[in-house]
Amino acid sequence: MSYDNNNIFAKILRGEIPCKKIYEDEFVLSFFDINPQKKIHALVIPKGKYIDLDDFNNKASKEEIIGLMKGITTVAKKLGISINNKGDGYRTLTNIGNHGGQEVPHLHFHIFGGEKVGRMVQ
Ligand code: AMP
Repeated sequence: MSYDNNNIFAKILRGEIPCKKIYEDEFVLSFFDINPQKKIHALVIPKGKYIDLDDFNNKASKEEIIGLMKGITTVAKKLGISINNKGDGYRTLTNIGNHGGQEVPHLHFHIFGGEKVGRMVQ
C-alpha cells in the first residue's frame, strides 16, 4: 500500500483543513481529536508521509523517530497530564491497519487523559 496524499491528516499538515493545534515542531504536529473519546483526546502525528507505525519504523530516520517519541511527551506535558510534571497520567496508543482499527492512513498516536481512561481493550 502506498501513502495516500489525500488523507485527512495530510490535508491538515498542508494547511488545507483546520485543526485545533496543541503543539508543532520540525518533526510533529499535535491537535485535538475532532471526536473526543475522553475528556482530553489529542493526536500526535509525524510530519513525514508514513502510513502507520510499521511503515514509520521501517523508513523514518533516527531523528524522526526520536522526534515523534519526544513529541508525545512534550504534548502530554503541555496538556498537564504528564506524570513527570505532576499530572495524573494518560494513555497513548496507535492503531495499525484493519484489525487495529486504523481509520486515517497517516501514522498518529492518540493521547487520552483528563480522567480515568478505563480498560485497555474492550
Ligand atoms: P484511527 O481510528 O486510529 O485511525 O483514528 C482516527 C482519529 O482521527 C479518530 O479518533 C477521528 O475522530 C480523528 N479525526 C478524523 N478527522 C479528524 C480531523 N479533521 N481533525 C481531528 N481529528 C480527526
